[in-house]
Amino acid sequence: MDYERFFADKIAELKAEGRYRVFADLERKAGRFPEALSHQGEGVKDVTVWCSNDYLGNGQNPAVLAAMRDGMDKCGAGAGGTRNISGTNHYHVLLERELADLHGTETALLFTSGYVANITTLATLGAMMPGCILYSDALNHNSMIEGIRHSRTDKRIFKHNDPADLERLLAADDPDLPKMVIFESVYSMDGDIAPIEEIVEVSERYNAMTFIDEVHAVGMYGPRGAGVAERDGVMDRLTVIQGTLAKGFGVVGGYIAGSSNLIDFVRSYGQGFIFTTALPPAIAAGALTSVRLMKGEQGVKLRERHQERAQTLMTKLLDAGIPVMPSVSHIVPIMVGDPVLCKQASDELMAKHDIYVQPINYPTVARGTERLRFTPTPMHSDEDIDKLVDALQSVWENLSLKRAA
Ligand SMILES: *Cc1c(COP(=O)(O)O)cnc(C)c1O
Repeated sequence: MDYERFFADKIAELKAEGRYRVFADLERKAGRFPEALSHQGEGVKDVTVWCSNDYLGNGQNPAVLAAMRDGMDKCGAGAGGTRNISGTNHYHVLLERELADLHGTETALLFTSGYVANITTLATLGAMMPGCILYSDALNHNSMIEGIRHSRTDKRIFKHNDPADLERLLAADDPDLPKMVIFESVYSMDGDIAPIEEIVEVSERYNAMTFIDEVHAVGMYGPRGAGVAERDGVMDRLTVIQGTLAKGFGVVGGYIAGSSNLIDFVRSYGQGFIFTTALPPAIAAGALTSVRLMKGEQGVKLRERHQERAQTLMTKLLDAGIPVMPSVSHIVPIMVGDPVLCKQASDELMAKHDIYVQPINYPTVARGTERLRFTPTPMHSDEDIDKLVDALQSVWENLSLKRAA
């Protein structure tokens, strides 16, 4: 086999389909978010970032930065080992306690990322409970799909956000077998939100455990920033709450929160937890400060401003006839419906308007639903918003893109 040829052909396929991924080479500027430097060949220019998952700007929160510096000065760079072999630092312990308090659970467990938290927890639970059936929302994130796949147990896919379809599947299975229902709160490509209470009620009726991914909600929803389940008053009815420290909290790392027995089980059997070096202590120190601040007054203010910015952008786009998708969250997606046009729109925004938004193509979203996905943050000004709306008007005109009905 001509290996090099094989790889080159596979890349050529992606390019022909218009979904070859080109990364923006950015240099973030602490204290100036959403401004960043964009490196393009030899040149550099200032751009406004409109697609960051640093949803609340906590990646530059001065208190978080100070905590990270302090953590590094005290403990050094790396953790020095896996959690079991010398790598558990006191900051990890404090952060796990803080996360358990945030979600009102007995305990919590840290992972190196939200992705690893999902894949490890689902693979471990699914593989080790004899006869376990996993019920997965049709639009679940790849990290959950991979966890389910690695569990090698039976799975059922229920229609997106459809408790009735979930109930139909649960009712058809042996009532004595162990079951777990797996879903997200905020779905980040459409900006819709799960009917958590209804899904919990159906699951309870069939004695199924529930696993919720609140990655796009922690820090951002609920009175203390614990997520949509907190906002909806159903946090105590979920079996496992999974989250990230990388998006709303602005740092990096993932976690699960739940009962002592379940968490101890994943801690003791989960391979993606056991066989990897613990997060650097300074990271845990920064995340700890971020979670604490988002629970309090600073969090309340940021959440209010965040929602207001998203609403303002959506209203202005609708007024301008730009086809915003009907989001009920902080995510503002605009449908383009073609991978090549989507990339062209993104390129033109960057080249002519100094606006950076990454095109979202298959397999992140279904073919034919390619889109631009905007994430307004509390740091985007009125001026940023008006500039974006004008730029989109011009791009929609130039590329003859479809307008709102
Ligand atoms: C980003 C994401 C993850 C992974 O979290 P990381 O901390 O970035 O690894 C998990 N679930 C969903 C729904 C996500 O969007």
